[in-house]
Amino acid sequence: MKETLAVYPGSFDPVTFGHLDILTRGLELFDKVIIAIAYNIEKQGLFTFEERKDLIQQSINGNNNVIIDSFDGLLIDYVKKVNARFVIRGLRAMSDFEYEFQMASINRTLNPEMDTLFMMTSKDYFFISSRTIKEVAAFHGSVTNFVPPPVERRLKEIFEKR
Ligand code: ADP
Repeated sequence: MKETLAVYPGSFDPVTFGHLDILTRGLELFDKVIIAIAYNIEKQGLFTFEERKDLIQQSINGNNNVIIDSFDGLLIDYVKKVNARFVIRGLRAMSDFEYEFQMASINRTLNPEMDTLFMMTSKDYFFISSRTIKEVAAFHGSVTNFVPPPVERRLKEIFEKR
């Protein structure tokens, strides 16, 4: 039988409980999910690709149904390359919606075979974004409730020195 596959793209700089929640729910719909770390010219990250990958790996407890990869260029090209059809995205607020609606519409115009599936954030995570987590950590606030322990440790190490 054919395995169902979805791509979950994002910056994951770093991975948060919000991301992991969408991933877990995505795995209830698809046999395999590829977490595709996007290279974004406009977003200079705090973590390198390798670190982001490592932190995700450490946070998914060896789940064989998750593949971690990275890509640059157009998402539609990556989705084609891995032979997937569906892309998963999380929606936190109205502000996410506008951008996501534009991206999904462009992608669907470029490749009508590709479809984007949106999952609404869980009530416990709607306020979590990688950006706000980094801000809290930079001022030595606790991020225990927002990110998995390996990410928390790494953030502490980075901001201890600053
Ligand atoms: P961020 O905006 O946190 O840098 P990413 O670019 O890494 O996020 O996001 C990847 C995907 O995960 C996006 O679809 C984003 O909307 C989703 N996502 C991020 N944080 C959450 C959250 N707390 N709840 C639901 N979805 C989220």
